[in-house]
Amino acid sequence: MSALLSQDINYDAIKDPQIVTLLKGLKHRRFNAYYAPDAAAARKIVLELVPADVKVGTGDSTSATQLGIADALKERGTVVYDAHRRGNSWDDTHRFSALSYSPDCRYFLTGTNVVTQDGRLVNVDAVGNRVAGMFYGHEHSVLIISRNKIVKDLDAAFHRIRTQISPQHVKIRSTDLGGRPFKTGCVKTGVCVDCQGEDRTCNVFTVIEGKPKRTTVHVVVVDLDIGLGWDPSWPQERIQKIIDGYKSLVWIPPQLKN
Ligand code: SF4
Repeated sequence: MSALLSQDINYDAIKDPQIVTLLKGLKHRRFNAYYAPDAAAARKIVLELVPADVKVGTGDSTSATQLGIADALKERGTVVYDAHRRGNSWDDTHRFSALSYSPDCRYFLTGTNVVTQDGRLVNVDAVGNRVAGMFYGHEHSVLIISRNKIVKDLDAAFHRIRTQISPQHVKIRSTDLGGRPFKTGCVKTGVCVDCQGEDRTCNVFTVIEGKPKRTTVHVVVVDLDIGLGWDPSWPQERIQKIIDGYKSLVWIPPQLKN
């Protein structure tokens, strides 16, 4: 086993104490936890975790796209049903989504919206497919988490999802990037009004507290700012960089395009 995949993490080499606490919390909950200092290390970990000859299903994860993980797996010859990729037709998206949840896919790759310092994985989903794939239907799920997704506790996790991640996700994908305007209230203001219409995206909340009985969960903690999420107290420059990176690769469903 390589040093990257070792469960004996060298905590002394990690500068951010929040990440050390998180890695220990994840292991305490019987998740397999890995530390990646950069994108290249994250790709290397996933390439070592996932056997070359398996099929990999995916849930929508901008973080995984930013790290180039699906591309690296495909270049290596692994079949990846990369459904949530800009440029896919709606037919492709549906086809690859359906294949992602087939029993043929022993591995499932996605990201996580928020993680508490002690290792609880907290997510929101519109359809529910991404979150379900994390804990059921595949032998292994591989979850990408970056340093900007760490929050203090469950209260902070739900607060961040409701006041920031969900409204910003809707606003960016529709208003900012020119998709169909959602009728959700948050779309123009970026503030949640607990809408109840058909366009609501915050329909399924999940908290994974420990290793699901039938799934091995691998959590790759990446020491980078990627995906969507920040603390409002951070410098504006850091926040803007996160938003710009997210906007550059977030998946926009084809049917949302005007
Ligand atoms: S519940 Fe509705 S208004 Fe609130 S963030 Fe979700 S989609 Fe937006």
